[in-house]
Amino acid sequence: MKLYFASGNEHKKQEMKRLLGGFELTLPKEEGISFDPVENGSTFIENALIKARSLYEIVNQPVIADDSGLVCDGLGGNPGIHTARYGCTEEKKLTSQEQYTLLIKNLEGNIVRSARFVCALVLMLSKERIYIIEECVEGSIATTPRGIEGFGYDPVFLVEDTGRTAAELSAEEKDEHSHRGRAARKMNKLLMEVMNEKV
Ligand code: IMP
Repeated sequence: MKLYFASGNEHKKQEMKRLLGGFELTLPKEEGISFDPVENGSTFIENALIKARSLYEIVNQPVIADDSGLVCDGLGGNPGIHTARYGCTEEKKLTSQEQYTLLIKNLEGNIVRSARFVCALVLMLSKERIYIIEECVEGSIATTPRGIEGFGYDPVFLVEDTGRTAAELSAEEKDEHSHRGRAARKMNKLLMEVMNEKV
């Protein structure tokens, strides 16, 4: 089964490809589809639905969408659904390194370091058949970045019970613990069920 992945993020695609091994994932840009929907939902799930719906409108084929981000208790839940745009303005986009450096700065002196990565996955098989999965991984924000694996905020996210940042985990270890790994394993089961229904 070919699935469109409603994202422009190559790193996410690599992770999802590993996690949904038996399914072929295609990014819109790989087929020349320009895809940049306005993510104006108020939750991860709403934004994942926006991405799924807007790609489905174009391709009329099964779509998976991921919306994810980092929720920090010491910042009242921020950056949350604004994680991708954290610290950015119309004029200036920040690199991932600049974003996690800003996060560390905004938490300086704050003893509440607990945080979680959240991943909402949507499978849209048709306009009427939509499945939603949301998962998270608990952890805390480090005071200095560590590690070179992964992407985004991984160097500053200490994964609960590992003593390491997500960027210090191997791909397999990150998959085992991560918000996306947890959500994708459930998605895999769901996809198998859906496939079997058709047999
Ligand atoms: P989205 O693409 O709109 O869902 O934005 C997701 C944001 O959360 C981006 O800034 C990502 O870098 C960040 N993010 C999501 N998942 C991860 C992860 O597994 N590791 C590090 N950063 C992540």
